[in-house]
Amino acid sequence: MNIVQDPTEGSLLLADLIGAARRVVFFTGAGVSTESGIPDFRGPNGLWTKIQPIYFDEFVASEDARLEDWRRRFKFKKQVGTAEPNAAHRAIAKLVAGGKVTAVITQNIDGLHQRAGVPSEHLIEIHGNATRAACLECDAHHELDEVEAEIARTGLSPVCRACGGLVKAAVISFGQAMPVRAMMRAEHAIERADLFVSVGSSLQVQPAASLPMAAKYQGARLVIVNGEATPLDGIADHVLRGSIGKVFSAI
Ligand code: NAD
Repeated sequence: MNIVQDPTEGSLLLADLIGAARRVVFFTGAGVSTESGIPDFRGPNGLWTKIQPIYFDEFVASEDARLEDWRRRFKFKKQVGTAEPNAAHRAIAKLVAGGKVTAVITQNIDGLHQRAGVPSEHLIEIHGNATRAACLECDAHHELDEVEAEIARTGLSPVCRACGGLVKAAVISFGQAMPVRAMMRAEHAIERADLFVSVGSSLQVQPAASLPMAAKYQGARLVIVNGEATPLDGIADHVLRGSIGKVFSAI
């Protein structure tokens, strides 16, 4: 493992590795979006230093948990509404446009990769997208603004107009099954990758964090770009520390 502390040096190294690779996969986490003003979960100022997660089972079982979940979603919606893609989102989008990046697998639910220009055929959202809502039974789409207005009017969490099922933000909560199609797309991209770059993830959330490991054991070089140590640093070829914005602004 080679640890690079200086962001400029890290940036040059990453550019060289991408230049030499044939099929690059990016894997991104909440740390990519902190410089856009969206807090992460486990960083030094992360959300889990202030609140507890709501598990899927709690959401299904308890009206109070659902209403609290929606309050958090509407707060997140406001944050995302005022956030703009940053240097890292833009650099990744440019690299995708350049043709070498076959997939951007993201744990993020903020839609900033799309807004930076990563096309949907290259983007794999393994934890869903918080800018949408869907019925847990029939998957019918529900507009977040309408859900917000309905809760303000009734004081109750919404049910699906089509089938009566519970409506939930279209994200994967703790304890909820992973989306099969997105995971299959991710695994397919990883099988063919020769460079896998994890950016802004604490690599503590499973099964997402198993993807860098799978890439490494299937022969890809593994690069981890993150401000603090991760449990997978030991198997990475290169670990680039420091601000993600600084590393990517020079790419
Ligand atoms: P995480 O919060 O567990 O880890 C983020 C990591 O990024 C931390 O190690 C932190 O030190 C690092 N980091 C933060 N800002 C950085 C910066 N500017 N430069 C360098 N490093 C920086 O996030 P995760 O691994 O993505 O997993 C947590 C879950 O959080 C995911 O499931 C995701 O869905 C969810 N989440 C998403 C968002 C979002 O969409 N923006 C925000 C919060 C949480």
